[in-house]
Amino acid sequence: MTRTAASPGYDAEVIVVGAGPVGLTTGCALRHHGVSCLLLEQRTEVKAYSRANNLWARPQELLASVGLRDVLAENAYAIHTINFFVNGTPTAPIPIADVASPYPKVLYSGQDVIERTLVSAFEARGGRLDRGCTVIDLAQDEAGVTVVFRRGEDAPDERRRGRYLVAADGARSAIRPLLGLDFAPERFANCMNRQVDARLSWRRSMEPDQLWFFYYERGFAGVMPVWGGYHRLFFLADDTGVPDRDPTLDEIQAVAREVTGDDTLTLTDPQWLTHSRFDHGVSPGYARGRVFLAGDAGHLSLPVGGQGMNAGLHDAVEIAWRLSMTLRGEAAPVVLESYDGERGGEHARLSAQQARGFRWTVYRGPVTDAALGLAAKALPNLGSLLQGTDDMQQMAVAYPTGSLNEDRLSGLTTLLRPGPKPGERAPDAEVTAGGETSTLFRFLTNPDGWTTGWTLLCFDGRSPSARGALLAAVDAVVPWPWVRPRLVLAGPMIEGADAPVLSDLDGRAHGAYGLEGRPALVLVRPDGHIGFRADAGRIDHLVAYCRRVFGPAAGDAEAIAARREPTAAVSGPAH
Ligand SMILES: Cc1cc2nc3c(=O)[nH]c(=O)nc-3n(C[C@H](O)[C@H](O)[C@H](O)COP(=O)(O)OP(=O)(O)OC[C@H]3O[C@@H](n4cnc5c(N)ncnc54)[C@H](O)[C@@H]3O)c2cc1C
Repeated sequence: MTRTAASPGYDAEVIVVGAGPVGLTTGCALRHHGVSCLLLEQRTEVKAYSRANNLWARPQELLASVGLRDVLAENAYAIHTINFFVNGTPTAPIPIADVASPYPKVLYSGQDVIERTLVSAFEARGGRLDRGCTVIDLAQDEAGVTVVFRRGEDAPDERRRGRYLVAADGARSAIRPLLGLDFAPERFANCMNRQVDARLSWRRSMEPDQLWFFYYERGFAGVMPVWGGYHRLFFLADDTGVPDRDPTLDEIQAVAREVTGDDTLTLTDPQWLTHSRFDHGVSPGYARGRVFLAGDAGHLSLPVGGQGMNAGLHDAVEIAWRLSMTLRGEAAPVVLESYDGERGGEHARLSAQQARGFRWTVYRGPVTDAALGLAAKALPNLGSLLQGTDDMQQMAVAYPTGSLNEDRLSGLTTLLRPGPKPGERAPDAEVTAGGETSTLFRFLTNPDGWTTGWTLLCFDGRSPSARGALLAAVDAVVPWPWVRPRLVLAGPMIEGADAPVLSDLDGRAHGAYGLEGRPALVLVRPDGHIGFRADAGRIDHLVAYCRRVFGPAAGDAEAIAARREPTAAVSGPAH
């Protein structure tokens, strides 16, 4: 993260347009990887109010991988429970923190708080944020992207040039249509969201450690903390008879009392009273040439399940490691190309999930309402299912058809105990290292400063005869120094390998990967998703994968230099 200058002829290696949460996270992640980055933003300051205010578990893991999670957690409330009510009947509360992640509690603050923290982090990492710049055009060629902007309506055009451009310019993206990636949004008719951020007094807990959601006749409401001792109350409902304007505090307090059944509920000191309607849709692609969409720029997301910004944070981390490896000459073209299919595909999936959740949430007739009342008694997780998913924390986000995936494990045991496949998130597990209890995750993400490092987990399958194959695998990846081998041993100790040993005598790590009794190799990407797995003896498959994804071995200095962007000013791995 030492280098801030770009190579001659370029203003930055990567230009990011839009300093919302997604653009700022992209910028911070690029700087984390040592890539010079210029952020262009039309606003002269951070928006004063919050839209998104939650960080789910999986996005927290991704933020941790680029050194941002803890600083965001400093200004956030940790949530452990979601309470659901269906037509006044409480359903079983959801222990939302009951997920297998190092960051199981949801963090609640405010988008303005998150953006301010990210601006400080970006500037502290040597990023350049140029405000007051409205991007109006771009042109790309074989060597880079030139972006055109103005600092006011009558101001002259200015230009900046980067090797790549990330468009994080939000739902009304100016760049999306320039790439031919625009789409016609669909509108959910006859419903409206009305909401307020205010101080709340009511007969339930006011501790900022839980959320309340109420399904009521033809509507859905939520009460959640906002940073600074405030609460957000929203009412997503049929708009019949509702004036088409922002609500007053008295109006929203009256609705809140009716929906929650609490006539003591009182709202004071409103920070933001607003109303909105719902267009939704997703771009047909997330990349064109050297330009990549991120966040709302490619996806008008619906306000169901608090997913929009969180999905964009995946984009930010995913594009940053790919650009960084590519600029350093460490990646074959497939790495950058895979972003479009993986993230574009995931946004399309999420969009369908949100539309399903939205229909269940708002467009319910009396029959469905009655059925829900009965179901509430039988289905403990009804509340989250009604949001269109039982994976609100985004732990199951995966890339089942990603072009970086390669599964070479074969045989009946694989069918019987499949374990996580390429494209899926690599699970954590307790292991012992250096005589201390530890976790696999501590050896996966950036433990050595090689921020875009991949991890080769070499499982012995409790078999003493696996020794030779595992040592050969460790040697096989030496030409790609960003691949970090780790021996995961449920059987006898292997001495003398040039790789950390993670003891797994209790078989927890083997179990988590479905590899009990199965010597195997699992290659994990910098984002914590599995790229490749194979039987331990198939070093040929491992080497072929590395060649396909990384290109020629680093030992082949000439080949690497030929692939590296000419004189790219990217600092080497920060170790
Ligand atoms: C009421 C509401 C509640 C929400 N609640 C949640 C929630 O609980 N959880 C959740 O995950 N998501 C939520 N969302 C969605 C979330 O706010 C968005 O997904 C998130 O803001 C997307 O971030 P972004 O950085 O992609 O875009 P934005 O936040 O829209 O940022 C885009 C930035 O680009 C700048 N820009 C735009 N055009 C240009 C240009 N031409 N040149 C230069 N700069 C430009 C803009 O000024 C802006 O700063 C909510 C949205 C709304 C409206």
